[in-house]
Amino acid sequence: MTATALHRIPTLVAGLRHSHARGITRPEEWRREQLTRLRALLQDRGADFEAALRSDLRKSGTEAVLTEIGFLVSEIDHALAHLARWMRPRRVRVPLAVQPATARIVPEPLGVVLVIAPWNYPLMLALSPVIGALAAGDSVVIKPSELAPATSRLIARLVPDVLDRRAVAVVEGGAPETTALLAERFDHIFYTGSARVGRVVARAAAEHLTPVTLELGGKSPVYVDDTVPLHLAAQRIAWAKYMNAGQTCVAPDYVLGRPEVLRELAPLLAEAVHALYGSAPQQNPDYGRIVNDEHFDRLVGYLADGDVVFGGEHDAADRFLAPTALAGVDRAAPVMRDEIFGPILPLVDVAGLDDALSLVNGREKPLAAYVFSADGETRRRWERETSSGGLGFDAPALHLVVPDLPFGGVGESGIGAYHGERSFRTFSHEKAVLAKPLTPDTLAGTIMPPFTPRKDAI
Ligand code: NAD
Repeated sequence: MTATALHRIPTLVAGLRHSHARGITRPEEWRREQLTRLRALLQDRGADFEAALRSDLRKSGTEAVLTEIGFLVSEIDHALAHLARWMRPRRVRVPLAVQPATARIVPEPLGVVLVIAPWNYPLMLALSPVIGALAAGDSVVIKPSELAPATSRLIARLVPDVLDRRAVAVVEGGAPETTALLAERFDHIFYTGSARVGRVVARAAAEHLTPVTLELGGKSPVYVDDTVPLHLAAQRIAWAKYMNAGQTCVAPDYVLGRPEVLRELAPLLAEAVHALYGSAPQQNPDYGRIVNDEHFDRLVGYLADGDVVFGGEHDAADRFLAPTALAGVDRAAPVMRDEIFGPILPLVDVAGLDDALSLVNGREKPLAAYVFSADGETRRRWERETSSGGLGFDAPALHLVVPDLPFGGVGESGIGAYHGERSFRTFSHEKAVLAKPLTPDTLAGTIMPPFTPRKDAI
């Protein structure tokens, strides 16, 4: 792993702060140019990014384009199309007591922001927040994940070459480098990763009263009933679960259903996996690998927590773990305690809708919840009676590609949100600006002393 020298970090952040104070990041043209350059980089060096993602996670080229490179290009296009409107001050109504006056919300850059990324979508999750930060006119330090070293190296090599070095820097490394960064004062910290490190980030941020966005994870449930064609539900669940070998923050974590529904669903999931990855996923270039030995061992340990319905094959030397489903899983088993973050899908029996709702509500709020049901009342109850970062009906993981939907968690799954306009707002301060003419003077007779009974009534 390449790491930035710790002693360089304070100077580097000071340099960005100096540039920011000079206002170079403020003009709309600067923001547009940075976004356009980033877009060109992603396209011109797409093959290099694909190779890095293959090296880190054995990610297939098509998946790399769909979920990382192409996703970023679309986000940039969306930002470029809407930037002028996002930057425009918005007039708001003034209460009668303060009239005549005008009131506006004026977005302004926050300053120097820090983006800390995880390894599972190491390109997309490092750069997607940067799009919002650049659009908002901030200076940025990017800290890619040391657990995806090829992608981290490439970001560190290429990004400073195309973006304005006075305002954008990449720091490489792991906990020591991130700790050194967190000692600095930032105007916003945007962190994606585990809740454990999220707490470390929030504590460090509190020292400087720095606002944070924490994009965390959790156990995202899927509920399936018998009102939907189960082979179609199986296909979507399998796709969202086994993509990137299950290492996706919004992947279905476990499936809840009545025993007879799950009995019918299990072979359909096996068929769906076969359709996606064939009979030998280890040989299939579309199927990924577990990021490191530690995660591999943790995941293999879960295989004892239920009866393997399909999959279960694993090869430590290759960090391969087949798409797997487990039946007969106890609700208190280790695989049902922490986020799985791998290609193991527990199928958990429930007595019905009420039981499923109370199981989910008895746990931490997840990043997402998914419901496969054609029944309106069932859908309404999930929407009203459960809380999660996002909710997908018949559509796992897809809410995150809708730019106008805020993407983020709630409770243990995160603080704040981003994507599209929400990214711009996350990285901006919304300044309240009020202008009231000195004449006519409407204040002396109303809200200023001397107070009279008539003024009490106002
Ligand atoms: P992680 O917390 O181990 O690492 C994330 C980042 O924190 C890395 O850049 C790492 O260098 C840094 N870091 C690690 N230890 C640190 C320490 N002690 N002090 C300071 N910095 C430290 O997370 P991870 O394993 O890379 O990511 C997995 C988790 O992230 C899962 O829970 C997943 O659900 C979640 N996730 C969430 C989203 C989302 O968008 N909400 C996306 C992807 C992953």
